[in-house]
Amino acid sequence: MACWRRKRLRAMHELSVCMALLEQVADCVESHRAIGASRIMLRIGPLAGVEPALLRAAYAASRPGTCAADAELVIVNAPVRIRCASCGMEDEARPGHLACKTCGSAATQLLSGDELLLEAVDLMMDRVT
Ligand SMILES: [Zn+2]
Repeated sequence: MACWRRKRLRAMHELSVCMALLEQVADCVESHRAIGASRIMLRIGPLAGVEPALLRAAYAASRPGTCAADAELVIVNAPVRIRCASCGMEDEARPGHLACKTCGSAATQLLSGDELLLEAVDLMMDRVT
């Protein structure tokens, strides 16, 4: 069924995003000689094409056994910001409403809102050694 296929692909997408995320966290843990991560902060724009709820589910499923097994996932929602090429206006916008609010021009440039960033990782250090 087409609908089921679409859902599956989408879930796969969040899972691959999650795997890439855990890889970055592992790099971070290793380069700081930490024993694991306690908190992961992600910044996601509404136009990133990632569903935070699905990403949370993928994260919960894939973190056991990794350096992020005990880490809390904090998702920060980034605003959508646009700049108008006609009048120069810069403002926040709603996804799907990206035309300029001042002059109505559709020639706007996306300043932010499509990002998917690993903003910060809180590390657990081994205090014994
Ligand atoms: Zn404008």
